[in-house]
Amino acid sequence: MYVTTSIDDVRQHVKSARGAGKRIGCVPTMGALHEGHLSLVKECQRFCDFVCVTIFVNPTQFAPNEDLAKYPRPIEADLHACREAGVNLVFMPDNDELYPPNFQTWVTVSEITQPLEGAHRPTHFRGVTTVVAKLLNIVQPDVACFGAKDYQQQATIRRMVRDLDMPVEIVVCPIVREPDGLAMSSRNVYLSPEERQAALSLSNALKLAATRLASGDTDLAAIQQMMIQLMQQHPEVQVQYAVIVDPDTLHEVTTPQQHMVGLIAAQVGKTRLIDNREFLLPQN
Ligand code: AMP
Repeated sequence: MYVTTSIDDVRQHVKSARGAGKRIGCVPTMGALHEGHLSLVKECQRFCDFVCVTIFVNPTQFAPNEDLAKYPRPIEADLHACREAGVNLVFMPDNDELYPPNFQTWVTVSEITQPLEGAHRPTHFRGVTTVVAKLLNIVQPDVACFGAKDYQQQATIRRMVRDLDMPVEIVVCPIVREPDGLAMSSRNVYLSPEERQAALSLSNALKLAATRLASGDTDLAAIQQMMIQLMQQHPEVQVQYAVIVDPDTLHEVTTPQQHMVGLIAAQVGKTRLIDNREFLLPQN
């Protein structure tokens, strides 16, 4: 496994891998790797024989009041995990490599970035799309893998790739959860044992919604209210949104449709967590 902080190095390694007839995959991450990230690597290896993992805590997707400074950076453990997983190339640039002085070009996706995460983190997606566009330009992979854990993010990236005709196939991988249902996240390490327990209410709320919908409940407003109530039983949890939306537009749905997705964001103590679940109703 080759590890580099340099764009030129990445280009050279990818060029020689492609020259050797290899199909190139890319898994962009912010590090603090867990089984969720590694599932993306595994999925990427199904499609590609040369996989580049990028590890970059992207400052432009954090607002000034967010956790950029304290975001976990266990770099040795991350490199070990990548080596064990059979990753070929790790690109871990510093800020200046990706944002040189006088950097002034941004990629924005206008519509689906507005609600939900966009409403709570107004500059977040501009940072995400800009850095992902840059990473895709640098690595030029055939395939790039993203997690369904960040539902609005993957929808935004798929939109960007379609709208800008970027020559890459985006693969979206299912959410990896702890055995009790908590969605794996690099931010889970911030949780105290009590908060960890309270955080389970996010996945439980989504489970409850799935059960209500499967049982034929059509009152989506009432189901959303039930999700909120379930989470608010825990004083540590402050719900930011708990909604059922259309998977393509991310607009809230008022009457059940065949395919929906429940999206939740909540503050658990000082830690902001998101989770989601797709709902597929049987077709009539
Ligand atoms: P991050 O390091 O949090 O920016 O995440 C990097 C990639 O890993 C993104 O595409 C995430 O959606 C994905 N990811 C994070 N957590 C999970 C998870 N629990 N299951 C699946 N994918 C995940």
